[in-house]
Amino acid sequence: MDSFDCLTSVVVFEDAFVSAICENREGSFLCRFKMRRYAQDAMIYLDHNSTTPVLPEAREAMMPFLTSEWGNPSSAYRFGARAKTAIESAREQVAGFIGAERSEIVFTSCATEANNAAIHSAISSNPKKRHIITSQVEHSSVLHFCEILSNRGYDVTYLSTSPEGLIDPRELEETIRPDTAVVSLMWANNETGVISPIREIGEICTRRKVFFHCDAVQAVGKVPVSFRALEIDSLALSGHKLGAPKGVGGLVVRNGLPFHPLIVGGKQESGRRGGTESVPLIVAFGAACEAAHRRPLSAWDQVSRMRDALEGNLLATVHGAYRNGCASPRLPNTLNFGIREIDSDLLVTYCDANGICVSSGSACMESAITPSHVLLAMTGSHSRASEAVRVSLGLESKPDELARLVALLQQFLVLAR
Ligand code: PLP
Repeated sequence: MDSFDCLTSVVVFEDAFVSAICENREGSFLCRFKMRRYAQDAMIYLDHNSTTPVLPEAREAMMPFLTSEWGNPSSAYRFGARAKTAIESAREQVAGFIGAERSEIVFTSCATEANNAAIHSAISSNPKKRHIITSQVEHSSVLHFCEILSNRGYDVTYLSTSPEGLIDPRELEETIRPDTAVVSLMWANNETGVISPIREIGEICTRRKVFFHCDAVQAVGKVPVSFRALEIDSLALSGHKLGAPKGVGGLVVRNGLPFHPLIVGGKQESGRRGGTESVPLIVAFGAACEAAHRRPLSAWDQVSRMRDALEGNLLATVHGAYRNGCASPRLPNTLNFGIREIDSDLLVTYCDANGICVSSGSACMESAITPSHVLLAMTGSHSRASEAVRVSLGLESKPDELARLVALLQQFLVLAR
């Protein structure tokens, strides 16, 4: 049984207005509000787990490769060699940042590709092993790939999560079988920010001799991540979560392990990923990693304090508000909350109408909105999943922006209740 009756809504956009038919225990009513125009620089961006602004360092580093240095890195002449050298410098920057060897970095188009490629390689390296372990709260790039493998005859086990969003390493230990080919688990959840016991998971996989792939997209740059210090076989990274443009990512693969490429063609990336490299994006990714490497991680302490203050303020002053996921261990920038009987999509639209970008975990599938699979796995409640809103701060977020969000939520409740 759901613990709350959720307010549901049908949202219609017409001219500058949004109209929503809302329902609660007392019946249905019309909620109508204006989409205000706001200048880009007046926008309050609180959705950094979705994507981040491009860093000036990344933009500047890539510019020559969009203008004069457009050679193909595979060409034998010096014009091509300069592009190749730029890729190798970027590889050095990424490796230095995450504590890996240069030869362990494979550039990809995004973390989705890196996650697909890692699982593909692990199962191709062990063709007799037909069992895969992942969790119910992974990103769709892991879940949908596993779904396809399941349709091809692989047996996939989805680890459960506690109501607080935590994976239990004991469940992993009990689930590993002699035919387990790969364990794919994320470092930090993109919706709740909850951090998994990665060290313990790595130790279990090493002891049980199972390949461990980790989706570290949300953790990298926000918490200490050292590939060589942990027992991880491969790790996925995304450029646009770190201040690089969209369209570039990386897969870190431990030296000495066999690798079976997902994308085949040319011999780029030492035969581990075919296709002419996107030199500008790779160079920008390297520069973003270098910038993150130089920045002390303590820069996130201030963000964490702001997030905690926002959480305290929101829970104390917004009627019916509650937090989703445990308070700790959690990414320093993420708060996932719900407001009883308030549909998150309507709330996100109201925030947008007033110049604030936050997100709901819901996904648009075949023109229907489905509630967050993460919250559904954690709570078993459709209402809780439909109420989940994610706020994710960046290093440039300011306290007055968060105060504006809380004021807006209070204002919305007057409208909706
Ligand atoms: N994994 C996690 C945890 C993510 O949050 C995301 C993107 O939101 C991805 C993977 C996919 O990253 P990309 O957009 O680079 O494909």
